[in-house]
Amino acid sequence: MSLDSSTAAGEPIQTEVVIVGAGPCGLFQVFELGLLGIGAHVIDSLAHPGGQCTELYPDKPIYDIPALPVCGAQELVDRLMQQCKPFKPQFHLGQEVVQFSRRETRFSIGTAAGTRFDAGAVVIAAGVGSFQSRRIGIEGAEPFEGGGILYRVKNASALEGKRLVVFGGGDSALDWTLELAPRVRSMTLVHRRSEFRAAPASVAKMRELVAAGRMRCFEALPHSLTVADGTLTGVNIKTPDGAVHALEADHLLVFFGLHPKLGPIAEWGLELEKKALKVDTEKFQTSLPGVFAVGDINTYPGKKKLILSGFHEAALAAFAIQHHLYPQKRQFLQYTTTSPIMHQRLGVPD
Ligand SMILES: Cc1cc2nc3c(=O)[nH]c(=O)nc-3n(C[C@H](O)[C@H](O)[C@H](O)COP(=O)(O)OP(=O)(O)OC[C@H]3O[C@@H](n4cnc5c(N)ncnc54)[C@H](O)[C@@H]3O)c2cc1C
Repeated sequence: MSLDSSTAAGEPIQTEVVIVGAGPCGLFQVFELGLLGIGAHVIDSLAHPGGQCTELYPDKPIYDIPALPVCGAQELVDRLMQQCKPFKPQFHLGQEVVQFSRRETRFSIGTAAGTRFDAGAVVIAAGVGSFQSRRIGIEGAEPFEGGGILYRVKNASALEGKRLVVFGGGDSALDWTLELAPRVRSMTLVHRRSEFRAAPASVAKMRELVAAGRMRCFEALPHSLTVADGTLTGVNIKTPDGAVHALEADHLLVFFGLHPKLGPIAEWGLELEKKALKVDTEKFQTSLPGVFAVGDINTYPGKKKLILSGFHEAALAAFAIQHHLYPQKRQFLQYTTTSPIMHQRLGVPD
């Protein structure tokens, strides 16, 4: 299994199937295709697999996965990763799929990072859409986004010796505050409430740094930017008593969490209903032959957005994809219990 977060340049990657989305349904799709001897590349805009389970509720228990009376959401993702491992899927993480087109019988897929694929079939397992950072939402912020205002830290060393103001109260905000505090000229954490969502140990450590005078922490909201000669020089924050305080800063690091956006998928010309892709219930194929959709992203009469439903959809889609790619091939149902070819694919000794 390869977890590749890098950008590939040059020729498009040739593959039987591209799966857009590494949530639970995308991961189970890898498994179901693998059983039929079909390989897949999996792309996700997040830096890790797991979709909503990992991003929104990793520590919560799930009670409706068949034969697992209780299973942590992250545990489910770890198990799915383990289950699909024999089929050696190639993961391209931290890359949003932004380009899609059909070229005769093949599909061209491109990511924002520049990786390109040439695939025989596409499975869209994009859930509720790709997760995007919540923006700071103050006037005049846009021109500084990606420069003075950052929503993720790609290069921590570039922030060394700078004046930083970190916004947020979750794990990302606290982790980066603690990581960068010893390496920067000044560190200020701003959170809209006095309670934090981050791990209690991180919050305690941050309070120790504040008590030692090594950083500051405010309960406040961002109010406005201060700019001189086109350069960001700081931010004004508004505390609960209505007072506005000026903070000097070279960079604002904003960790207000992520929200899903259907994004480019809405522009691919596939038939949509209420922001979901319309599919049939035999093949889970979209309005474009060769393009399938499983999990939360699809809709059909009676659709329920449950992991279990997505797993069933992935199983039937795999057979339909096999028929789409190899129409001459005779299809018959085999049991994993007894099929020598499936054992071989799974790496199970007979
Ligand atoms: C708090 C909470 C509790 C839940 N509890 C349960 C439960 O108990 N039982 C249950 O069955 N379900 C539960 N669900 C619902 C369940 O999590 C979803 O049904 C499931 O995650 C859907 O899986 P998916 O693979 O279809 O999509 P997702 O998990 O949403 O994954 C989709 C992935 O696609 C990626 N993606 C989207 N667009 C692009 C793009 N253009 N380029 C690259 N990547 C893209 C996203 O980044 C994401 O990682 C719960 C949901 C929540 C929020």
